[in-house]
Amino acid sequence: MPLYETHVGMECHAELLTESKMFCGCRNEFGGEPNTRTCPVCLGLPGSLPVFNKKAIEHVVRTALALNCTISLHSVFHRKNYFYPDLPKGYQISQYGNTPIGVNGWLEIEKPDGTTKKIHITRVHLEEDTGKLIHSDGAGYSVVDYNRSSVPLMEIVTAFPPDIESAEEARLYAETLRSILIYLGVSDGKMEQGSLRAEPNPSVRPVGSDTFGTKTELKNLNSFRSVQRGIEYEAQRQIEVIESGGRVTQETRGWDDEKGISFSQRSKEVEQEYRYFPEPDLIPLEFDPEWLESLRAELPELPNAKKRRLMEQYGLPATDAAQLVLERETADYFEQAARGVKDTKAVANWMLGDLARLANASGLAIHAAPIPPAALAEMVGLIESGAMTGKIAKTVIEEMFATGKSAPQVVQEKGLTVSGADEVAGIVAKVVAANPDVVAKIKAGNDKSIGFLVGQVMKESKGRAKPDDVNRLLREEMDKL
Ligand code: ZN
Ligand code: MN
Repeated sequence: MPLYETHVGMECHAELLTESKMFCGCRNEFGGEPNTRTCPVCLGLPGSLPVFNKKAIEHVVRTALALNCTISLHSVFHRKNYFYPDLPKGYQISQYGNTPIGVNGWLEIEKPDGTTKKIHITRVHLEEDTGKLIHSDGAGYSVVDYNRSSVPLMEIVTAFPPDIESAEEARLYAETLRSILIYLGVSDGKMEQGSLRAEPNPSVRPVGSDTFGTKTELKNLNSFRSVQRGIEYEAQRQIEVIESGGRVTQETRGWDDEKGISFSQRSKEVEQEYRYFPEPDLIPLEFDPEWLESLRAELPELPNAKKRRLMEQYGLPATDAAQLVLERETADYFEQAARGVKDTKAVANWMLGDLARLANASGLAIHAAPIPPAALAEMVGLIESGAMTGKIAKTVIEEMFATGKSAPQVVQEKGLTVSGADEVAGIVAKVVAANPDVVAKIKAGNDKSIGFLVGQVMKESKGRAKPDDVNRLLREEMDKL
């Protein structure tokens, strides 16, 4: 069997965060009592006319700029005609052809080994979402909810030939894109609610072949994990079809996450079947270059740039910085907590270690934990100044998380202050006296054995002694012998 390689094109749809829908004043919000956010425009009633939502256009332009696209100064809308009950007008207003809002951009993914790869993007365009069909279980009918009808939708398509060469790269692409959209504030990126939908188009071909294999399109992927699993499964399925002498059919396939399989949904329409034509009810968009430049100037610092800055400014390793920038609020939390702390690496460690664990267990994001950044900074400060050991801090942070109290308060109330020199000296004397054989070893030159005695003292002091002090006091004690 020849070796096969996988190529993946990605089509992603993101519902935009706007107050109202794309072409009418109805509220744009997830869920709600069915068909309560509708009007003649988004119900497609005869005689109703669409009006642009400026905020939605601005969101798409900002995204296209952030994705390094060229902006089409003249941008046109089209009707994509097809019949389906969730599409009341009988057509979707979309952008076809070579004047979508953004063209020829790219984003950069970072692989687990630290290498980066540019994924080219061919277009970023604006369209409208459809309604939602709700199928009755076995009762033989379906109903439709038009609350989502005409919600502003942005489509982002990767370039051909595809840069993405594995299921993992496809997942990284989707994750990176999501984090950029959230940083820009244009989408909430909730895959589980369908506000961000990734549709990969995987194909396989024998290594060495110069023509691409037939691709299939995967739908219903509602997590990053299912993006990766779906493509892995689909690539394997295509290889098996080819190896058994068959041909891959170009079609749309659904993903069943529970069973871990893809299944045929429908054969894919070809472009001609949509009978695209320019939307006569909307004028073309003409962008003012000055307006574009003002939007470009106001773009926030994006995840990749923020990551590089955190590494430089705070001396963080790449893995820590990458985790901190996943969400903008987490990075903000870190920068606030790092203010006035010398050991900024320790702040990152506490955030990504104990704090992340505690937050996770309560279903919270790190930045939403009941420990404000200043309180974490104060806790790290206590360790820095020697007023508390790192070991004690593990107990303290748990108590802070549970009660919302400050580190000094917890230390005070729980009697967790660092043991006084006298107290530690007493424990040291006791440990030395109780372990004459270990002491003899050390005196005979086996210096490593002192670790055992340090451990005994730490245990006796319940972690409240500082290891440096213990070391020094142990040597003083043994010198007396
Ligand atoms: Zn409406
Ligand atoms: Mn689309």
